[in-house]
Amino acid sequence: MEINRFKTNDGRDIYSFAVQSFPTLATNIYLIDDGSRLIMVDTGSGLPESNKDLLAGFEAVSSTMGKSISMADVSAVLLTHGHIDHFGGLKFFREHNADAPIAIHQLDVRVISNYEERVIVASRRLDAFAEQAGVSAEKRVDLMSMYTYSKNIYESTPVQMVLEDEQEIFDMTVYHTPGHCPGQVCFKVDDLMLTADHILGRITPHQNPESITLNTGLGTYLNALKKISRVPGIRLGLPGHEKVIEDVYGRIEEIRTFHEGRLQKVLDICKTPKTMLEVSMELFGEVKHYHRLLAIEEAGAHVEYLYLRGELMAANLEEIANRPHPVIQYVCDD
Ligand SMILES: [Zn+2]
Ligand SMILES: [Zn+2]
Repeated sequence: MEINRFKTNDGRDIYSFAVQSFPTLATNIYLIDDGSRLIMVDTGSGLPESNKDLLAGFEAVSSTMGKSISMADVSAVLLTHGHIDHFGGLKFFREHNADAPIAIHQLDVRVISNYEERVIVASRRLDAFAEQAGVSAEKRVDLMSMYTYSKNIYESTPVQMVLEDEQEIFDMTVYHTPGHCPGQVCFKVDDLMLTADHILGRITPHQNPESITLNTGLGTYLNALKKISRVPGIRLGLPGHEKVIEDVYGRIEEIRTFHEGRLQKVLDICKTPKTMLEVSMELFGEVKHYHRLLAIEEAGAHVEYLYLRGELMAANLEEIANRPHPVIQYVCDD
């Protein structure tokens, strides 16, 4: 197990290792050691492979530190956001540590503590979105089963601490950065920023339409990027996936430029009326499995952004007004 060790300008140690949260996805776990407390950031997915890696990670950190630590020594768990690759390991954690408080931003508390309800409600909203986007009934059944699959991995777990924007906790600053997820936060630890899934080094974080989940959406996300760009003195970014980000401010610019380009592409595609599904097909082509869900959400987030700002308009108003379950077509307003 490979361990990375970072030292903040105030002398705190941050250890990180990656767990295999899903067969094609690794998630970074961080352990912050300030001499008296050990703070754990994120938990992996809770799948057997992820849990195994968690144990191996603690062992490897022990040998790097030169003293034996385990999950029982953790003082608190901070969750960066309510996505299962980050919080799904909570149940496993609780088997090893019954006392450490679990913290997450207010807007994601219910995902952790009322998971079954959230999955059902969110999947209904996704279904309505997919229908308006032009996905056939048969393909929607497929999408829903992918979406609700994770219901079987996780069990609701109580949250003991609720995080808020600009709160100081364990001598770190919480930044609420909604967009990728409603309760997404970044943690500033001295001169290092744990950027979670808000800012990643290589891929651009996945975007959701606001019409499925409130407090997400591309506009919300871009505002939250701006927020981090205004935080001074970030020497390194420690993300939720992949490698360390050497230049956080530069990476924010890259991500912004990327979305501008994608928005322009959507405008070009919508020179003639298109459904969200058609936009998704033109952007990403025919994709498989879970990527079908990601593609339609990502396309939807961009279409919605332009629509909300008056750059796209509904092309088939007659049909929308008169049909019970209309598929909306979008066209460039010029
Ligand atoms: Zn995420
Ligand atoms: Zn993630």
